[in-house]
Amino acid sequence: MGSEQRVSHWIDGENWTGPPGRTGDIFDPATGAVTRVVDLAESATVDAAVAAATRAFSSWGRATLTKRMQVLFRFRELMAEHAADIAALITAEHGKVLSDALGEVTRGLEVVEFACGNAHLLKGGYSESVSTGVDVYSLRQPLGVVGIISPFNFPAMVPMWFFPIAIAAGNTVVLKPSEKDPSAAMLMAELWQQAGLPDGVFNVVHGDKEAVDRLLQHPDVAAISFVGSTPIARYVYETGTQAGKRVQALGGAKNHMLVLPDADLELAADSAVNAGFGSAGERCMAISVLVVVEPVADELIAKIAGRMATLRVGDGRRGSDMGPLVTAAHRDKVRGYVDAGVEAGATLVVDGRDIAVDGEAGGFWLGPTLFDRVTPEMSIYSEEIFGPVLSVVRVASYQQGLELINSHPYGNGTAIFTCDGGAARRFQHEVSVGMIGINVPIPVPMAYYSFGGWKASLFGDTHAHGAEGFHFFTRGKVVTSRWPDPSHGGINLGFPTHG
Ligand code: NAD
Repeated sequence: MGSEQRVSHWIDGENWTGPPGRTGDIFDPATGAVTRVVDLAESATVDAAVAAATRAFSSWGRATLTKRMQVLFRFRELMAEHAADIAALITAEHGKVLSDALGEVTRGLEVVEFACGNAHLLKGGYSESVSTGVDVYSLRQPLGVVGIISPFNFPAMVPMWFFPIAIAAGNTVVLKPSEKDPSAAMLMAELWQQAGLPDGVFNVVHGDKEAVDRLLQHPDVAAISFVGSTPIARYVYETGTQAGKRVQALGGAKNHMLVLPDADLELAADSAVNAGFGSAGERCMAISVLVVVEPVADELIAKIAGRMATLRVGDGRRGSDMGPLVTAAHRDKVRGYVDAGVEAGATLVVDGRDIAVDGEAGGFWLGPTLFDRVTPEMSIYSEEIFGPVLSVVRVASYQQGLELINSHPYGNGTAIFTCDGGAARRFQHEVSVGMIGINVPIPVPMAYYSFGGWKASLFGDTHAHGAEGFHFFTRGKVVTSRWPDPSHGGINLGFPTHG
């Protein structure tokens, strides 16, 4: 295998190969072939990246707001110019169809655009004359070196939820992307450099648990933003906070779509198919459970099954609707859930296990699958599947549906489909979930709002991007100041009360 097929780290503005060590295979999920290998960092490599970021922080943390904003503007332009290149890398390593890969670049760019408002978002407050001759003001300063650890399913967008804001706020970054699809991060690193970002401000180390553990323990890493499955998110949150770091750790999901009998069933059917099978269900905001209030379940299921029959599964570069799953192991795990659902007695309406695909036989294929009469104790209901499997749970009332959703351990996203504004308003108030759609199946907030779930879908109290993002990547100071003038009143040992 030639050197061009090896993905190594990006440290201090250059490719950093380091001594030979462990590597991981990168697959083309549509063919099953190994196309590249990725270096898996040992602690020493993480240390080198953190050292570069620490050096860079001494000047980037003091760079003017204007300078930072100008670099962000240039990065935004370069990302837009290279969107198709990034999308092609994502499709080649993740498998999602090209239009979907382009969509994630667009959503990530929105965060870059938002971060260009750093001058406004980092403004503090000022109170004049809180006491005689005394003023008080607040300011926010960057934290230092921050670690970002991201999952395989959005190799560009999820890192972009964090690093534009971290950098705009004056921090320096060590990104550890998923080892399954690491190449988009490398192209983004090159574009940062072309945009004029000083070397060392944005570093990429590839790796697995060993790299993550070193980031969590490194004394010079101030904060960690993590996105991934719930068990790892919980571990990262607990380990990182015990090591004294600020941590936000976004976890897994099981998103329910509640359909009331008065809903527009055509819209509900389109939405269920789009949100259930887009990106082969490998989205943390995918709909995986339809909670249908009777008596419309039969009608809705027929509409969904009809639409599923038209979906073209195949290589994401060939104009298919749905691509393969990310690895053979993940495909087999998802297929295992389908087997378990059948065994548990759910009704298999559409079976995706043996479908015809427009792609190589070695690809990691699994077609869209629909179950009816799913009950809460079945594993296809209780666990996150993260694949193209949609389950229908039939309920008798809004209240029963709400209780079902609120009893689930995950609380990332949810949606209600109804034409009754009062019911929708009640739902948004009563449901214990962080992101809610009303006749919108994938309610991913815009960059100027914050993204995050409740319950086992997020550990920590700060959501991603939006104003909360700037809050996470800065810490506050309050200054109480007096400039001597002739009214200076002499010695007073009492507690300052600003009278
Ligand atoms: P994952 O938890 O396997 O991996 C996430 C990151 O953690 C990767 O960088 C990986 O290298 C690292 N990692 C893996 N095992 C580790 C370990 N034992 N110790 C330390 N680090 C480890 O997740 P994934 O399979 O890459 O991504 C899919 C998951 O991410 C799903 O559960 C999905 O719901 C979740 N996700 C959540 C959100 C959200 O916003 N809540 C967004 C996207 C994905």
